[in-house]
Amino acid sequence: MTVALVGAGPGDPGLITVRGLALLRACDAVVYDRLVAPELVDETPADALRIPRDGLPQKQIDDLLLALGRQGLEVVRLKGGDPYVFGRGGEEALALADAGIPFEVVPGISSIAAVPAAAGIPVTHRGVSDRVTIATAHAADGSQPDYGSLVAAGGTLVLFMGLGRLRELADGLIRAGMAAATPAAVVSRGTLPDQEIGTATLDEIADVAGDLPGPALVVIGDVVALSSRLGLQSRRACLEDAPDAAHGLTDPMLVLDERKADEALASRAEARSG
Ligand code: SAH
Repeated sequence: MTVALVGAGPGDPGLITVRGLALLRACDAVVYDRLVAPELVDETPADALRIPRDGLPQKQIDDLLLALGRQGLEVVRLKGGDPYVFGRGGEEALALADAGIPFEVVPGISSIAAVPAAAGIPVTHRGVSDRVTIATAHAADGSQPDYGSLVAAGGTLVLFMGLGRLRELADGLIRAGMAAATPAAVVSRGTLPDQEIGTATLDEIADVAGDLPGPALVVIGDVVALSSRLGLQSRRACLEDAPDAAHGLTDPMLVLDERKADEALASRAEARSG
């Protein structure tokens, strides 16, 4: 018996790990968060207990995991993104460790980088940003973020749970010395079919993106400007449509030459369909 704290990835059900999916398919019970893809919950065996955590306070979730674990069941605790990134997975793991219940943590793709990437924003980029600061805008005690240290860190700033206080955050950062013209983005429902992106300068981001639906991630820094060039990812989609052809392109010079690569892909596709 084990309780596995499994990261479900940022939203798109395809972004769970192979190990996470295998555990889901073999579990007796799954306790899942609101943000995880329903398709993943559907991967559990038909007779598995499917328990939404909706509305349960943290203490009761901990107790539930302990009770299920003690019954000798294979339990999956399915959490959005990565269990240990702003997911309170550490608290659940501590409860299990203290109770002597065997557990494992299966990392997930956190929205930290996956959500900006889905919007065409690399969180680091050579010559643009060599560091990332990750922070929550929603401290446990309700206090304000330490704006001075966030600004002093430089590089890219990724803020979790910031949508509801976007204007306050932008004003706080500007007061602490961040340029009002710094590029900023809000990525709403990243990696999901209804993903939306709002971009503006820091002083205007709340007007442009404050009404987008959650969950949303706030990304601030010069890397945001790359989204205008990387947001469409048309080239990648084209290669994905023809995975066999892409594997056949072994000559790097051929791949580097877009026109030749397109010709090669077209002739491979023709050969396969013919
Ligand atoms: N453990 C999760 C984070 C949980 S906190 C992880 O590793 O990603 C929840 C916050 O994560 C949300 O308020 C939002 O800021 C961010 N988030 C999670 N999924 C998201 C998504 N698909 N798009 C945008 N932001 C997301």
